[in-house]
Amino acid sequence: MILGRDCLPFGGRPTVSASPGRKSCPWREHVIEAPKSPLKKGTGTSPNGVFTGASGLTLGASPLFQRRAKPRTSHLRHAGTVSCLPWLLFWLVGCNSGDSSAFKTPAAPPPPLRPVRVLIAADVDQVRFRAPKPIRILEGAGRVLDGDASAKWTVVAPDPSGGLLLPGESKGISAVALEPQERVPLTISIYQDDKWSKERAYAGSVRLAANEGNCIEVINHVDLESYVAAVVANEVWPTFHVEAYRAQAIIARTYALYQMDRRKNARYDITAGEGAQVYRGLRTDNTGLKAAAAAAYTRGLVCTYEVDGEDRIFSTYYHAACGGMSQSAVIFGTADDVPPLRGGVRCEFCEVAPSGAYRWGPVKLPAQELMKRLTDRYPNLASFGALEAIDVIERAAGGRAVRYRIAGTSGESYEMLAEHFRLAVGSREMRSTYCDIRLRRGSVIIENGKGFGHGLGLCQWGAHGQALEGTKAAEILRFYYPGCKLTRVY
Ligand SMILES: [Zn+2]
Repeated sequence: MILGRDCLPFGGRPTVSASPGRKSCPWREHVIEAPKSPLKKGTGTSPNGVFTGASGLTLGASPLFQRRAKPRTSHLRHAGTVSCLPWLLFWLVGCNSGDSSAFKTPAAPPPPLRPVRVLIAADVDQVRFRAPKPIRILEGAGRVLDGDASAKWTVVAPDPSGGLLLPGESKGISAVALEPQERVPLTISIYQDDKWSKERAYAGSVRLAANEGNCIEVINHVDLESYVAAVVANEVWPTFHVEAYRAQAIIARTYALYQMDRRKNARYDITAGEGAQVYRGLRTDNTGLKAAAAAAYTRGLVCTYEVDGEDRIFSTYYHAACGGMSQSAVIFGTADDVPPLRGGVRCEFCEVAPSGAYRWGPVKLPAQELMKRLTDRYPNLASFGALEAIDVIERAAGGRAVRYRIAGTSGESYEMLAEHFRLAVGSREMRSTYCDIRLRRGSVIIENGKGFGHGLGLCQWGAHGQALEGTKAAEILRFYYPGCKLTRVY
């Protein structure tokens, strides 16, 4: 959910001597580097006057892409219309059935790049799966273990002596690929914390692998456009304007491509939770339908900025509401020192956000509870004693806190990124660092809060607010990512 989006990509400039505990993992997904394989600019330009990026790009520069025999230079609207058709068929069938197992995944021609690999779950106790058509189960070397697993649940469990246990199979299998035939979705449920999770339907294929902890890792290999549609459905509010949906689709696609390039040698490209982009498989409700239409309309479009004549993608961060001004990535010490992410964008459009997102507080927390939360995430703060002071030692333009110094009764003090502090305290209670914070009579009082989220990049409620005033997706993106333009990559 967008309001829960609290990821931050930071860790590049340590400002706290405390070491994060295990729970600190989610934002590591965003510890990024500049793209090593910039897109090469082509000669075409978008003809519709809505999007200004170059179309007809030469795509061979990045290993993500394969050259097409005939590069597409089609008009955006034309491309959107064409690729909408399979989606419409998909949704018509899906909506009528009311059951995700009754329809096929989109027949849209795949974009010229490999599938995006999404980590659905790690450290799972068991996995079960089924599909309305035969499922091929292949082991790592490609040998077909079963060519006809289908309607009934098949359960996979870790073998206590290592590897996976599959019904009727000998031991020693460390990983399998599940490939449903005829593009039907694969329904998955995972067993964790003594219960089976809600069933979710996934396009593409799913890889299961035993990990070192004798648990199972679940990775979905899905075509980028199906992934984008699914992400948009979870990252916007259902009532958002269609142009906000379209803007979200473009940045979800850009962000995924950026991660695919950066993590091409890793086991997966991106996680499925709030630490990256929320992905819960196929959705067949109205929001899913609007998201699929937005993905189809913007098919192949990404945000880029130009460096030395080359168009480069960048990490298109976004957040729920900026509260008045966007944040710079630079002050967090990331490698994202690119013009579109330098912040300072004044925005009052997110005023349309529900109460609690644009302005919030005061929030009162016992100081003891706050220290417990900090220590849970940063265990070596245990020697800190009770909280004695919290001071803002650096603010960004506009007033958002960048770094805090906290002092304890042991005499120790620590400096830490305000965003790290916020995530440790709780992103629902401390919705942004654009606030005042003070210690009074054993309580921490957080007040005058503005915005929701880290404040980097696009302000989602602001995008909706602008769309309500008639602003198109391309303009919205140029507003929140200064210097960016839209580029068609397929
Ligand atoms: Zn805003």
